[in-house]
Amino acid sequence: MGSPEKTGKLYLIGAGPGDPELLTLKAVRALGECDVILYDRLISSRVLQHARADAELVYVGKHEGQQERTQQQIFDLIARHALAGRTVGRLKGGDPFVFGRGGEEWALALEHGIEVELIPGVSSAIAVPALAGIPLTYRGVSQSFAVVTAHCREGRAEDWARYAKIDTLVVLMGVKNRAFIAQSLIAAGRDGEEPVAFIERGTLAEERIITATLADVAFGGVKVHSPAVFVIGEVVKLLPLLNSGRQR
Ligand code: SAH
Repeated sequence: MGSPEKTGKLYLIGAGPGDPELLTLKAVRALGECDVILYDRLISSRVLQHARADAELVYVGKHEGQQERTQQQIFDLIARHALAGRTVGRLKGGDPFVFGRGGEEWALALEHGIEVELIPGVSSAIAVPALAGIPLTYRGVSQSFAVVTAHCREGRAEDWARYAKIDTLVVLMGVKNRAFIAQSLIAAGRDGEEPVAFIERGTLAEERIITATLADVAFGGVKVHSPAVFVIGEVVKLLPLLNSGRQR
């Protein structure tokens, strides 16, 4: 590798939830500066079009069961390229700090003396329900929301008790464990009649919205495919009102 005169830079870039128009101007500018872009699953090719024609694009999406190995490889790639003087873009879905391990990559870069610039992204947790017609807060209906992940939580029902009293719950990576989550929330005191929605592939042409009750999900009666945002709370009742007038 040698010892280059100048250490490169790491951009941690949020790509937004899917629709390429939801990129920030900063993300577009940074993508055009990168020599190497390490991009995740769920990143649209229309977002990658903002890369320079000569940039190296490396897919580093994670698959179930090998997350840790892949994360180590990502750390190695960031360090190797940046220490060789390149500008590295780490492009992540939504916002890099919302279940994106952006903080860990930032810390790693600092350890190696690599300059870091974070470019926040529009998180699917907020934008996907909103564009479907579900605001996470609404006067008189919901004053609080929490964004939680269902990943690796199976078998730990007690963890869900702390979410029983939050008005709106947004669950990411929750499709596979949805019945378990719903059962745990009902066991923790949430009403089985509470409305829920899954928004599959939100902001994209293939978007699908599925509504049900928490009990329907608990009984395994709701078909959904990943990726989807799972929203639980009275705000889901606003969907028919807001969705009918939305611009697609
Ligand atoms: N950092 C990302 C979230 C990463 S976790 C963000 O801020 O959006 C990945 C999860 O996000 C998926 O399992 C799914 O729950 C959700 N997700 C991301 N993009 C989505 C989309 N376009 N439609 C529905 N869910 C999405």
